[in-house]
Amino acid sequence: MDLGVTGRVALVTAASKGLGRASAVALAQEGAKVVICARGAEALADAEAELGSYTEALAVPADVTDPAVPASLVAAAVERFGRLDIVVANAGGPPAGRSLDVDDAQLEAAVNANLLTSVRLVREAVPHLRQQGWGRICLITSSSIKQPIPTLALSNTARTGLWAWAKTAAGDLFDDGITLNLACPGSHATERMKAIALPRGPLGDPADFGRVVAFLCSEPAKFISGSTVLVDGAHSVGLV
Ligand code: NAD
Repeated sequence: MDLGVTGRVALVTAASKGLGRASAVALAQEGAKVVICARGAEALADAEAELGSYTEALAVPADVTDPAVPASLVAAAVERFGRLDIVVANAGGPPAGRSLDVDDAQLEAAVNANLLTSVRLVREAVPHLRQQGWGRICLITSSSIKQPIPTLALSNTARTGLWAWAKTAAGDLFDDGITLNLACPGSHATERMKAIALPRGPLGDPADFGRVVAFLCSEPAKFISGSTVLVDGAHSVGLV
C-alpha cells in the first residue's frame, strides 16, 4: 500500500528514542522528510543518522514542554523544508503516582507536558496545514485514556483532558483537509517502560507502533479523524 507521504514534511517531537523515534523512522521509510526534537544531544544525533539513511532529516535539540518550543520547531521545519504537512506530538510521560499521592505541582507539570504541549504544537502547525488544505496530526497518548492505570494518576489525568480537547479540535479541522487522531499505546518495549517497570501483559514492538502512526498520517487515512487507535494487544477492557 502506498501511504502517499513521499515528499511530505513531518515534525515528530520527543523522537530520539522509543515510540517517537519509531514513528519518525516509519514516516521516513515511507519517504517523508522528517524534523525531530529531543533534549539529549547524543541520542538525538543517533536518531538523525538513522533517519538520514532513509530521507532528509533535521534534528533540533529542544525541550518540547517549554512553551516557546512548539513555535520554534514549526518555524524550523518550514524554514528548512518550505512546508509542513504532518505533526506527531509526543513528550515524555509523567512519573508514577497514585491519585491521592500526587500534588498540585506534579499535576501542573503533567498537564503542561502531556496536554498543553500537544495543544501548542497543533495551534502552531495548523496555519501551515490550512494553507495547503492538507494535514495529518497524530497525538501519542496512552491506553490510559480508555482504562485508567491506578498507579499512573498523572498520565490518566493529563491525557484524558487532551483527548477531550482533541476530539473537539478534530471537528474544527476536518473541513480544511486536516485529520487529528490519537495513537494510544499499551505496554511497549521502550526505555520508559523499563523505567516505570509496569508492563501490563506482553510488550508491543515500537517499530509496529510507528507504522500505525505512519498509517494514521497517510493519504488513505483521510476519513479517519477524531479517533483513538488503541495499540495494546487487546489489554484494555471496555467497549468504548
Ligand atoms: P521513552 O522514554 O522511551 O522515549 C521518550 C523520548 O522522548 C526520548 O527520545 C526522550 O529523549 C524524549 N523526551 C522526553 N521528554 C522530552 C522533552 N521534554 N522534550 C523533548 N524530548 C523529550 O518513552 P516512550 O516509551 O517512547 O513513550 C513515549 C510516550 O508514550 C510517553 O509520553 C509515554 O508515557 C507514552 N506511553 C508509552 C508507553 C510504553 O509502553 N512505552 C505506554 C503508554 C504511554
